[in-house]
Amino acid sequence: MADSIKPIWEIVSEMGATIPKEEWDKVRKECHWTYDDYLCAWDTGCKNCFQFTEDGPHQNKFAYCPYCGLPIVIVVEAEKEVEG
Ligand SMILES: [Zn+2]
Repeated sequence: MADSIKPIWEIVSEMGATIPKEEWDKVRKECHWTYDDYLCAWDTGCKNCFQFTEDGPHQNKFAYCPYCGLPIVIVVEAEKEVEG
């Protein structure tokens, strides 16, 4: 059956290969954005920085990272939810 195209990480894991984290980063399928309160800008998963005039990526209809072209996933830092 050759009618389905599998992503590379699926093929690799089926082969039982072990890949260092840095290598997985190269084949990642999402760009994780985190908000930097201090800079009032977004750190992108591909080591860039982006600043919106207002609101965040979703409010500005950003679905894909302008730097690496991967879908944007907003990462909310858990520690910021802790109060006190
Ligand atoms: Zn990116």
